[in-house]
Amino acid sequence: MSIHPAFELVRDESIAEINSQAQLFRHKKTGAEVLSLVNDDENKVFGVTLKTPPDDSTGIAHILEHSVLCGSRKYPVKKPFVELLKGSMHTFLNAMTFPDKTAYPVASANLKDFYNLVDVYLDAVFFPLLTEDTFAQEGWHYELDSLDAPLVYKGVVFNEMKGVFSSPDSVMHDQTQRALYPDTIYGLSSGGDPKDIPALTYEQFKRFHTKFYHPSNARVVFFGR
Ligand SMILES: [Zn+2]
Repeated sequence: MSIHPAFELVRDESIAEINSQAQLFRHKKTGAEVLSLVNDDENKVFGVTLKTPPDDSTGIAHILEHSVLCGSRKYPVKKPFVELLKGSMHTFLNAMTFPDKTAYPVASANLKDFYNLVDVYLDAVFFPLLTEDTFAQEGWHYELDSLDAPLVYKGVVFNEMKGVFSSPDSVMHDQTQRALYPDTIYGLSSGGDPKDIPALTYEQFKRFHTKFYHPSNARVVFFGR
């Protein structure tokens, strides 16, 4: 096997438990880690994950997760994610925010479709458009139905988290985790607390992307045959 000159092989071993040959590569210029797990699974899986520790409970990482999938340099359409959901042969397609990281995994059994998914996702993660409109739409904005109506907050993540915070089970889970780890990032609400979300500004949001969405902070995995 020849290695791409931009990468160096760090480790190479077979893992019997998952019937895989595991090779860990490092991108020489940026330090990005790429793990290749070769096995006979018919699915081809790709994931790019970034460390995204937040400073507060504004849901900054969660709003960014939604927003990068709203158009990128190579794919400047409004909702590439929705287009992929409708049109690709994916066997898995999603993105998720954790208290300490954000993950973008895709899978397909078709090689051509798979590489297309990888291309759309990599472009979304590293070159998103992140317009102010996207921030307002996915994060939060004011809405006024009529002149005498009250001014209200709206936004995809704002509404989603209002839903989450209306479920007793979710509130209990959130409060338990926050109480157990009060002085760490696990003491924050990574999804966003609806009462904190409107404190987030577009500038903070853009800065968060610049700071964490860099290959040097990325872990990439390929899995399958
Ligand atoms: Zn969400």
